[in-house]
Amino acid sequence: MKQKKPVEFGKAKKKKSKNKPSKYSWLVALVAVALWGIYLLVSGTPWKDAEPLPAEPDFRVVFLDVGQADAALVLCDGESMLIDGGNVADSDLIYTVLQKRGIDELSYVVCTHAHEDHVGGLPAALHACTVDKVYCPVTEYDSACFRSFVSAVNEQTDGVIVPDVGDSFYLGSARVDILACDPQAEETNNTSIVLRVVYGETSFLFTGDAETPVEQALLDSGATLSSTVLKVGHHGSSSSTSYRFLNEVMPQYAVISVGKDNSYGHPHEEVLSRLHDAGVTVLRTDELGDIVLVSDGKTVEIAK
Ligand SMILES: [Zn+2]
Repeated sequence: MKQKKPVEFGKAKKKKSKNKPSKYSWLVALVAVALWGIYLLVSGTPWKDAEPLPAEPDFRVVFLDVGQADAALVLCDGESMLIDGGNVADSDLIYTVLQKRGIDELSYVVCTHAHEDHVGGLPAALHACTVDKVYCPVTEYDSACFRSFVSAVNEQTDGVIVPDVGDSFYLGSARVDILACDPQAEETNNTSIVLRVVYGETSFLFTGDAETPVEQALLDSGATLSSTVLKVGHHGSSSSTSYRFLNEVMPQYAVISVGKDNSYGHPHEEVLSRLHDAGVTVLRTDELGDIVLVSDGKTVEIAK
């Protein structure tokens, strides 16, 4: 701090015995404690953020090309979780993908919200597999495809579970944290379950179609958002991926699940430019088809 201070400390030190701890050392200790406190506030709880690295890494996320919709399979240590299931028209695709991969058991199914492009193909998944737990922000919604989803869930389980923010569960050695779920939100998109999957030192953030108000609430909550991979909210619409949110997540990869020549103009130019400015590698299902990302617990790679 300005040039005067060190001189003042120097003078004060000379007046004191060299064996006595000076005021200065207490100040250093206080500053160190304060800085540590600030670090904890800013970074959340870092000691909880990484999971122990597995002996034999086995983790991948398959972002399925379901056109203008969302569907992602998370596979870890022989366990499977399906996040969204595309449109009703994707039912055959979802059923076939699960069969071809030899998946007949899903530990978890997450329907991020009740819109058709997320819930539509889930009944097919529930007919292809047994399921342990099914999460969704609501248990009722006025559409035929949602009713078909609920009845498929009820055939196998005690019913759809509405998770609480702060809930965590394990998929193999990967930890899944529920960061947002607001059944009361006026906009269905903003009811979206937002979840973060932590595998070793890597992490994947799934935001459904959550828009800026949810992103802002997440920033205000102080939850750890920093992630290696961001499944870009709402198919790359400018209603999501605000500058501040992106700045906090700071992903290495951004996956956009989007249909070719869709009528919404997704992904929007401003989102692509924000991602570009942040130096993020953008992966789009309309350009690449299915996208497979593999983590060894330290780094994430695109599978060929
Ligand atoms: Zn959507």
